[in-house]
Amino acid sequence: MRAYQIVEWGAPLEEREVPMPEPQGTEVLVRVTASGICHSDIHIWDGYFDLGGGNKLTLEDRGVGLPFTMGHEVLGEVAALGPEAEGVAVGDRRIVFPWIGCGDCAVCQRGEELLCLAPRTVGARKPGGYAEYCLAPHPRYLVDFEGVDEPHAATCACSGVTAYSALRKVDFLRADEHLMIIGAGGVGLAGIGMAKAVVKGKLVVADIDPAKRAAAIAAGADEVVDNGDGEAVAKVLEMTGGGAMAAIDFVGAPATGGFAVQALARGGTLVVVGLFGGAMPLPMAMMPLKMLRLIGSYVGNLQEMHELMALVKAGKVKPVPITPRPLREAGQAIADLRDGKAVGRYVLTN
Ligand SMILES: [Zn+2]
Ligand SMILES: [Zn+2]
Repeated sequence: MRAYQIVEWGAPLEEREVPMPEPQGTEVLVRVTASGICHSDIHIWDGYFDLGGGNKLTLEDRGVGLPFTMGHEVLGEVAALGPEAEGVAVGDRRIVFPWIGCGDCAVCQRGEELLCLAPRTVGARKPGGYAEYCLAPHPRYLVDFEGVDEPHAATCACSGVTAYSALRKVDFLRADEHLMIIGAGGVGLAGIGMAKAVVKGKLVVADIDPAKRAAAIAAGADEVVDNGDGEAVAKVLEMTGGGAMAAIDFVGAPATGGFAVQALARGGTLVVVGLFGGAMPLPMAMMPLKMLRLIGSYVGNLQEMHELMALVKAGKVKPVPITPRPLREAGQAIADLRDGKAVGRYVLTN
């Protein structure tokens, strides 16, 4: 089968002919028909995450070797079952839930596979969807998307569930409180499009790009603010009557994190989602004096994926703009995303 692989960190992807995977045990082989290109694929492609202060977290340290096939927003048609795989049939159309743990340890047993120390993430540890076929380790990781447009359903596996999980962490907000979402790019826009279905509060969106602020209004934001403006903190404090009770930072840069902390109300919660990188300047005394909570949120778990798909099927999630690209353009598409040419999300189709 064809796969579009990283052969050298950060170098153009190569089209390579690789052996067709054969499902063993409980594994299920899926013929990939849609595979989203995620912003985090750019970091995987580069081979590291920037931790700030010159420190890097490399994929090689995490045991990922080359050549490697990315793609963690995968869906398609069940093509073959391992001898112990039950509950799906050849021809069934499913999303491959990618955030998979070892399946055996204590956290996996209680359904918190994201905390597992031996993850088997599809497209980040195990071969992903920039290919004609992809393996899921067990049928329980195959999620039904009946009635949902394929490219939209594919993006639910990462940007969708990431946005949903972040929103669930602030679903305690009351109707008269404010949620501020920072960053109306791919994941941020997904979050804005489903915020009202998950969180009761009013929605303020901060972005430095006027086009993205306009997109945020169209996606359901009550108010927008330019966080590149020197008066942005004062404006948020005014429009929220003293600060946002929660903020979700979908950028994750030093400037956005610093802005969020300043714009939070007393008792406010900051959820950091974005992986832009760097280190945030955080005046330590602000934590106790403002009684802040700081939470990191990474993708979402299988239960949240099922909850999200129920909302999507019920029509409560506004789809983000999607540009389909043929699978053979995988290398060019991710280069275009890196170069900032993508409007909305790219989804590879085959
Ligand atoms: Zn992703
Ligand atoms: Zn585990």
